[in-house]
Amino acid sequence: MRKKIVAGNWKMNLNLNEGFDLAGSVLKMVNAEKSKLPGVILCTPFIHLSGVSRIISNSIIETGAQNCSPVKSGAFTGEISAPMIKSTGATWTIIGHSERRALFCESDELLLRKTNAALEAGLKVIFCCGEVLHERESLKHFSTVESQLADGLFKLEAEQFAQVVIAYEPVWAIGTGVTASPDQAQEMHAFIRKLVAARYGEAIADDTTILYGGSCKGSNAAELFRNKDVDGGLIGGASLNASEFLTIITALKV
Ligand code: PEP
Repeated sequence: MRKKIVAGNWKMNLNLNEGFDLAGSVLKMVNAEKSKLPGVILCTPFIHLSGVSRIISNSIIETGAQNCSPVKSGAFTGEISAPMIKSTGATWTIIGHSERRALFCESDELLLRKTNAALEAGLKVIFCCGEVLHERESLKHFSTVESQLADGLFKLEAEQFAQVVIAYEPVWAIGTGVTASPDQAQEMHAFIRKLVAARYGEAIADDTTILYGGSCKGSNAAELFRNKDVDGGLIGGASLNASEFLTIITALKV
């Protein structure tokens, strides 16, 4: 069955102790919550992964990285491999965030290699896609997302794809305070699900979790999550505040 998920992307924020404090606060609030909650993932900087994984062990919360190397080990100074991430206790990694695509020039071909490396190490993947503003304005948003998925993700076998969650993140909405409207989100999520069905079949498409990301916060999460093809969110800025993050988690009905 399709899983509902709220994932926080801390990006490059918080020193070690600040990160542990935030994870501890999220854990306390999640444990105190009486309603049934979706899956919760904290995608932290690499330095926090081991400690946060220990803090949240025995809870519904999982941890994830924000990126991984496409290779397992070797002379790649400064890189972190998927098996290293796995050894921290993390179970997920984000791949293809728009900041990695834009600022670190990550191509679809590289993202496919990273996805393969993550899956091979036993990590699950949150694979991001989304158009920039001029692509939406020139009505190229569907073709952009289609080619990102075709070239970066749909080369996986069905068995591998089952370990992947897709995050639709319109780049113009990330960190800008401008959110996609619920209709814009639903329209793209339904389109993505149709692409998955064409590649892997209806049953797998129906089971695929598709998250929305882009200035999602406590005040707009419920209206975004009400859409039938929006299965949760990838949350940047608002995941740095435990109570705001909990409001978003509880806005997702399971
Ligand atoms: C993100 O970084 O994935 C994101 C969605 O950021 P924000 O929520 O801050 O727009």
